Amino acid sequence: METKLYVIDKEEPDIRILAEAADVLKQGGLVAFPTETVYGLGANGLDPGAVAGIFAAKGRPSDNPLILHIAEPHEVEKLAREIPANARALMERYWPGPLTVVLERTRAVPDAVTAGLDTVAIRLPDSLVARTLISLAGVPVAAPSANTSGRPSPTTAQAVMTDLAGKVEIVIDAGPCGIGVESTVIDCTTPVPTLLRPGGVTLEMLMDTLGEVEVDPALAQGSAIPRSPGMKYTHYAPAAPMTLFEGPAEACEAGIVQAVSQALAEGRRTGAVVSAETAKQLPQSAVIAVYGSRLRPEEAAANLYSALRRFDADAVDIIFAEGLPEQGLGLAVMNRLRKAAGYHIVRCA
Ligand code: AMP
Ligand code: MG
Repeated sequence: METKLYVIDKEEPDIRILAEAADVLKQGGLVAFPTETVYGLGANGLDPGAVAGIFAAKGRPSDNPLILHIAEPHEVEKLAREIPANARALMERYWPGPLTVVLERTRAVPDAVTAGLDTVAIRLPDSLVARTLISLAGVPVAAPSANTSGRPSPTTAQAVMTDLAGKVEIVIDAGPCGIGVESTVIDCTTPVPTLLRPGGVTLEMLMDTLGEVEVDPALAQGSAIPRSPGMKYTHYAPAAPMTLFEGPAEACEAGIVQAVSQALAEGRRTGAVVSAETAKQLPQSAVIAVYGSRLRPEEAAANLYSALRRFDADAVDIIFAEGLPEQGLGLAVMNRLRKAAGYHIVRCA
């Protein structure tokens, strides 16, 4: 199939384009569209055949459930059997926005969406393009990130095209995504809500509303069995092996400078994904992707995936990455970096 690529204005989207895309969704087809987090690969979330198309296009394992995206808060009532008070409080405060809430599901939700779980993940995105598309489709839209499974998520339409051209009917291009990492996933079916995936709504923001939040142990380790099925897969990974340096900034910087210099001396084509501060200290013969200042994790979030994708275009043999403090969006960035590195971590002191 020939993929149609439509450029659209983020603030004043052309309704005719979105209506055409909504028709594709209604007919069971696939549309990639921007959200404030990353680009999503959408299908009618009530149509098991359409949802199967998502898994096929991405090469996604069928036991990894999808998030249903809605356009109005009341739509959650049809999808969730019960909405606990803490979930309601989160939705009122952070919807529309980068927060996905896991609730007990109703029979309206197909097994294909939840991978057979009796819970469902639901989000109301802030992006006007996304919300208008979902409204016009008139159904909840199942949408994982619009990348080939295992690859870094796409934050531009060009990245979507690299992975999915020929596999989806329409790609809507509204420029780069503002947040740059996927939504926060919180399970509200446990007595104390459990953070399954850190994202745009930070742990600090969740605590501010809930007072108490459990953090899925798999987030820290990568070893325990994750409660969010998707968290067990290698993810966000560039093609070359990557090592992540964690610890105090100066120690990490020194460690990376040394590792990069050594790899270059061994004749390897060497990539580095680092802060602007560290980039200044690196040999210029390295392929350097800067994610922003180490003092501003929101910059790192916005630039992370395009930085990781750059190494595929530039075909490096080995990559070194610099960690940053886990405050605010830093927690989500570190989660993605650890997974991209396959938990290959050097602790600097
Ligand atoms: P993606 O859409 O690619 O960003 O992935 C969606 C994430 O939400 C994955 O990590 C899924 O495992 C997680 N998820 C979706 N549905 C559920 C659910 N019912 N319970 C727990 N996690 C879920
Ligand atoms: Mg994904």
